[in-house]
Amino acid sequence: MSNPTPQELLALAAQSARRAYAPYSHFRVGAAVLAEGEIFLGVNVENDAYSLALCAERAALAAAIVAGKRQISAIAIACIDAPPDSDLRGRMPCGACRQWLSELAPQAKIYLLGSEQEFSADQLLPWAFRWKR
Ligand SMILES: [Zn+2]
Repeated sequence: MSNPTPQELLALAAQSARRAYAPYSHFRVGAAVLAEGEIFLGVNVENDAYSLALCAERAALAAAIVAGKRQISAIAIACIDAPPDSDLRGRMPCGACRQWLSELAPQAKIYLLGSEQEFSADQLLPWAFRWKR
């Protein structure tokens, strides 16, 4: 699947969310990153020490980076435990993930399960921190 539709990418994100490790929040999230024709999945991974939790978006982005893929064209994010009628903000990437998206996926299209809207990293974090760039 080298050129998936947003719906296909969201379906992969939702499938991967079932493997999330979220025993504390019970809020499972999956992410699917499309980079150079390949798909990389991530899930949220929580920890007894709450602040050490890793978000699905960053897990998927890191998987792409590990594989040597830097051209990230899309990311789909699925919060499968969010109530279907919940506010969109309850399914948005957190601030840390927005910073990662801004640096690693500045051109990527960002899709959220349950929303028809398409976002960009600039929209989500217009004044992202930059180190001498
Ligand atoms: Zn996050």
